[in-house]
Parts: sequence; C-alpha cells; structure tokens
Amino acid sequence: MMGRRTRDQGKLFYEFWLEDRIPENHLLRRMNVFVTAALADLHKELEPFYSDIGRPSVDPELMIRMLLVGYCYGIRSERRLCQEVQLHLAYRWFCKLDLDDAIPHHSTFSANRLGRFRESDVLRYIFERVVWSAMAMGLVKGEGFAVDASVLEANASRYHGVPPDEIDWTDRQRQKRAVAEYLAAMEADPPAVTVHDAGNDDGGPEQPRRRQTDRKAPKVISPSDPASAWTAKANKRVQFGYGLNYLIDIEHAVIVDVEATPARTYDEVEATRTMIDRTERCFDLRPKRLAADTAYGIGRFLGWLVKEKRITPHIPVWDKSARDDGTFSRSDFRWDRRSGVYICPAGRPLRSTGTVHDGTTLRYRATLEDCRSCRLKEQCCPKAPLRYVSRDVDEDAREVARAKMKTKAFLRSRDERKRVEMRFAHLKTHHGFERLRLRGLSGARDEFLLAAIVQNLKTLALRLVKPPPDLAVA
Ligand code: SF4
Repeated sequence: MMGRRTRDQGKLFYEFWLEDRIPENHLLRRMNVFVTAALADLHKELEPFYSDIGRPSVDPELMIRMLLVGYCYGIRSERRLCQEVQLHLAYRWFCKLDLDDAIPHHSTFSANRLGRFRESDVLRYIFERVVWSAMAMGLVKGEGFAVDASVLEANASRYHGVPPDEIDWTDRQRQKRAVAEYLAAMEADPPAVTVHDAGNDDGGPEQPRRRQTDRKAPKVISPSDPASAWTAKANKRVQFGYGLNYLIDIEHAVIVDVEATPARTYDEVEATRTMIDRTERCFDLRPKRLAADTAYGIGRFLGWLVKEKRITPHIPVWDKSARDDGTFSRSDFRWDRRSGVYICPAGRPLRSTGTVHDGTTLRYRATLEDCRSCRLKEQCCPKAPLRYVSRDVDEDAREVARAKMKTKAFLRSRDERKRVEMRFAHLKTHHGFERLRLRGLSGARDEFLLAAIVQNLKTLALRLVKPPPDLAVA
C-alpha cells in the first residue's frame, strides 16, 4: 500500500544532541581532532591584537573554523558561508555552535581577515601547527621534496589591463588596499633596468635586453590588482593571475610550505628558495633531493641548490644550446676542467676573459687565427669570423643535475612529483578554487594558506580511519 505523509505541522520542539547527528566518519569530525590541536593557543596568539576594553568581539576561533569549512567545501563567499553554516548541522557542530547560536555577520570576516588576522600572520601560524601535527603523525619523512606552481586567476578583469607607463594613479585608486600595497612594493624594489647582452655564440652584435637576474617590468597591469601578472601560462587564456607555489614532502604529499607570487616563472623559482629556507628554519627539515620540472632547471637555482644547500636536484636541466642548423652545438665542444677551457672539434682551445655577462654567463672565444684557417669552419661558425661558446657560471651544478637525469632515482622522482600536481588538481576540482576572491599579494597569500591548511587537514583526516578516542573532542 502506498504511504502518504499527512502531517500538516511539524513538531514544535525537538530534543537531540548535535554531537549524535554527525557520523563518526564525517570529514569534519575527522578533521576536528587536528583543528582543535592547531587552534589550541589561538586566543593567546591573537591577544595582543585585541583591545582590553570594549564589547567582546566575535570569537576568532569561530571565524577560523568557519573559514576552514568554506575552503573545504568550496564556499568562498563569506555571505554564502554564513548562510550555509546557519543551515548545515555538521558545519554548526564543527564551528562549535549550538542550534540557536547566532552566526556572525559576513562583514566581520573582512574586517578581521584584512586587519588582525593579517597583522598577526595567524594563518601561517595555523599552517605551521598543522604541519607539526603531520610530522608528529609520521606523515612527513623529510627525505624528498617536490615543488611546483599553478596559476590561479586574480580577481581582476582581463579586459582592463593597462601598460604601467600609461597608468596615472588617482588618489581614490591609491587608497585601495591592493594598489597601495603594490606601490609600496614597487618603491622598495623597482623593476630591472635594461642592460646589454653579450651577443650570441657566433660572435654577433650585442643586443639590448633585460637582465634575467632581476624581476622584469610587466607589459600590462591591472588597475584593480596591479600585483597580479598578465599571463597565458599552462595554455590558459590570457588573464591576470597569481602563482600558487607548493613545496610538498613526497612521501604523503603533505604541503610543508606555500607561497604566493605573481604568476611568473622567475618569481616562482625565487619563491622555492624562500620555501626551502623557511622549512629548514621552522621544521628543521632539509630534503636530500628536490624534484621539479624544467622551469626550475636553470643554472642559478641549481647552483644554489647544489652548492649552498647540498640538495640533489632531480630536475631536468633547462638547456637551449643544441643547434638544429647542422653547425656544432655546445655539446660538440669538450670542457677541459683542469685548464678551464673548451676544446673545439678541431682541437683548438676557447678561452674566457673571466667577465660574467648578464649575471650568469661566461663566454669562451676561439682565436681569429685558429678559425680563419680551420677546415671545419663551415660546420662551426659559417657566418662569423670566430666561434664563441657560452657557459653558465653554475655549469658544474647543471652537470650534477644532468648526470642525475640518467638514473632510476630520477625516473622515480619524475613520477612522484606528479603528487604536487595532484594537489593543484584537487584544489581546483574538489574545492572549487579556480579564481581568487581577495586582491593583492597578501590577499593571495591568505587564500593560499587557507587552501594549504585545508588540504593538509584532509590528508591527516583521511589517513585516520577513526580518530583515536583519547584525542576526540568533547
Ligand atoms: S672554426 Fe674555430 S672554433 Fe670552430 S672548429 Fe675551427 S678552430 Fe675550432
């Protein structure tokens, strides 16, 4: 017989315990153990940023828990987050709210996020506490790290880019947080000046170009978020974006550091140095090997990794020296380590004056007499009187990386580094994180820290089938 619900009016009073309504294996319940540990000293940490007088504020722990719910379930609008927490029992339970407790107004979030939370750097504090938990649970081995960056679209219109020389900031624009932050950063660290390159390997004329060791000036900037970079990376449409940089421990893909940069390769490589140094300082972790893609295989970075940090690079070397016009490539010239010269295929030496060009390159030169009478000249430098060969000042480190590329360990690292790419994929597909909401580099930093906290918490939670009873929260 078909049943039919005939009740006109629901019960007026309900009696149940919220705790009973949340299943044992609910993600928030499993994450809660670690969130509670990470936020244990939150009030003490934030105390200096609150006044001793006045009305009690909204509990910062409540706001952080709500933000974690938002980043976990892809609810990044604060207005919507308040509505969802209002209605969802599990969200209420996770935020330690009773059924009739009031939800904070959404404007409270902006005031605190842009004020106290940023000043106190509380999100980084929480991130580090979560990594400490992962280390305590044995999820961080510290033997191998992988690094990569992904582009996230900035909260800026791609149709309103302006060349930086043409922009005349009005007083109103200067008062905006993202613009003020950008102008202050530009004042502290102006873009590179144009210098002269030392010419090409055929001895061609010197060409003016920007120094690669410095940050390049952007071609176009966004008036609403000028710190973001105009980019078409990763075969995406051209847009303004920020680079989300993750440094992960390969073993369980725990994110050990995160950094926000404009979406430019140069900044992303520089951010890796910051992350490796910070991880060592904060957690006393220095990996034996670092896996990364070719973008990180430049001499400057490899030199720093090998010589200063003593970390083995499992990184393909960025090498553009091979020629496809039938003339000799640099690999046809033998490096004589003892004499510090290149030996050409005709057996003649190429010497350097020791001048470092472009901050990174030494140029080795054959003599005019040798080349003029050489029988191999047509295969070597048909359009120039003599041959030049460039050598990176960190070529030794590049050689170390090149040698590693032929090993089985490198192939394993190449597979393992996909785990960092999976982190980005999960963030975009499972957490709906495709576009930033906050503006400015500090806005991107806040959002990336929250994303990394949530992803680490999820890793911790999913590795525990059941929270141990002694850690369960009352
Ligand atoms: S052209 Fe000059 S550099 Fe080239 S093989 Fe002959 S001698 Fe050596």
